[in-house]
Amino acid sequence: MSAPLERTIAALREALGEDRVRVGEQIGERSMTDWTGHAPARAAALVVPRSTEEVSRTLAICNEARQSVVPQGGMTGLAGGAIASPGDIALSLERLAGVEEIDAASATMTVLAGTTLQAAQEAASAAGFELTLDLGARGSCQIGGNLATNAGGNRVIQSGTAREQVLGIEAVLASGAVLSSMNKMMKNNTGYDLKQLFIGSEGTLGVITRAVLRLYPPRAERHTALVALDGYDAVVALLRTLSARFGNDIGAFEIMWPDFFDFGVSLTQAARSPFAAAHPLYALIEHAGFDADDNGERFAAVLAEALESRAVRDAVVAQSVADARALWRIRECTAEFPARLDPINFDVSLPIGAIGRFVDECRAALDARWPSNRSYYFGHIGDSNLHVTVDGHSVPGVAHHDVYAFVYDLVVPYRGSVSAEHGIGLLKREFLPLSRSVEEIAAMTAIKRALDPNGILNPGKVV
Ligand SMILES: Cc1cc2nc3c(=O)[nH]c(=O)nc-3n(C[C@H](O)[C@H](O)[C@H](O)COP(=O)(O)OP(=O)(O)OC[C@H]3O[C@@H](n4cnc5c(N)ncnc54)[C@H](O)[C@@H]3O)c2cc1C
Repeated sequence: MSAPLERTIAALREALGEDRVRVGEQIGERSMTDWTGHAPARAAALVVPRSTEEVSRTLAICNEARQSVVPQGGMTGLAGGAIASPGDIALSLERLAGVEEIDAASATMTVLAGTTLQAAQEAASAAGFELTLDLGARGSCQIGGNLATNAGGNRVIQSGTAREQVLGIEAVLASGAVLSSMNKMMKNNTGYDLKQLFIGSEGTLGVITRAVLRLYPPRAERHTALVALDGYDAVVALLRTLSARFGNDIGAFEIMWPDFFDFGVSLTQAARSPFAAAHPLYALIEHAGFDADDNGERFAAVLAEALESRAVRDAVVAQSVADARALWRIRECTAEFPARLDPINFDVSLPIGAIGRFVDECRAALDARWPSNRSYYFGHIGDSNLHVTVDGHSVPGVAHHDVYAFVYDLVVPYRGSVSAEHGIGLLKREFLPLSRSVEEIAAMTAIKRALDPNGILNPGKVV
């Protein structure tokens, strides 16, 4: 370890106390890489602050020493954004956790950044509200990480991405200055909306320490159905029918292509498809309105009409919470990908109408390039988001980078985006120019320089 780095760590210990600064074996494996498992490394030190003030002191000391700092949340990110290298200081928000206030009149929650999404959801629910942000990593990911990545998740079609849930933010700048924009109001047009800078900035512009989140009245019971369809045109037609009939009472519209569906089914307890036959496409749909007396009858009736008119091939409607969970388990098999595959993951965005064509083209192109490849496709189609996973085990000897470059090149002609929700982080940085113009990247770089002139915050990520 270099002498300046040793001096910085000593200064951090002195300012924060010994127990806030971990080194060597005190830094657990959890802090060494994110969910991608990419390039695990132990940072020079892991700082675990318990207050905004401690975050501020940490950054001021590191800024003075020109020392790089990598903010870490729940380490569930899928772009390598939270991975620190041996020359970095990692800053974990795990101890800055808790719900500070639920304001029932404003329908807001004030929450510390290290709070897990699940804990925040449970607190909202206990107060008679709903926090609509939801994703499979809810038990581990943190609010700060959700905002830093502008997480999407299962209910974007209903209430938008993380960005749409935020009214206020407190963030600490690289200099240590605390920028408090803890606004609770729906309307506030007093100049630039600074909080938006930090949402989706992946720890490169500031460390998020607190947020004011929007809460909603709880929806009545969710009704879940699995539907089999003829092809992609039928998917789009069904999405439009459901939107016209139910507006944003449709809480999830998840499309699974057969390879993905079969893989998901093989991991369920029954290991059997809910359908007697195989089908070209499957949709997992959730309806959640506000009318407690409806009991899902309108939703079931619309699906019955669709069956009768052959707009859908088959449908299974969950009759209990356990049934619904079993259906979701098929779709949430992605949590098992790291254990069972060598996943090369894509979370691309494409115009909704083009996604079916893209999947056919992508599959054909991968088959032509690497005939042994196995690839899996599912998407939050209502949000124009497609996930592709290529199993690296099926293309032995091929570098992940080559697969990334190959698939992203296919996205470009569609004017799609290389990241719909996971962010750019480390893994997609070189591909950013495929989705953003030279002028856009220049503007991002200028913002980065203005807020972090010494480039200490998460260097090498995003821009
Ligand atoms: C099973 C599973 C399912 C998932 N499903 C979805 C999904 O549906 N939709 C989706 O969008 N994502 C999904 N993800 C990805 C991941 O959960 C999200 O990106 C999540 O928002 C990351 O939160 P985290 O706390 O784990 O952040 P981390 O992984 O720790 O960090 C992610 C990035 O945010 C930065 N960061 C973290 N905390 C802060 C902070 N307080 N201030 C500033 N920067 C910070 C880090 O530096 C890094 O760049 C999934 C992941 C898994 C493992």
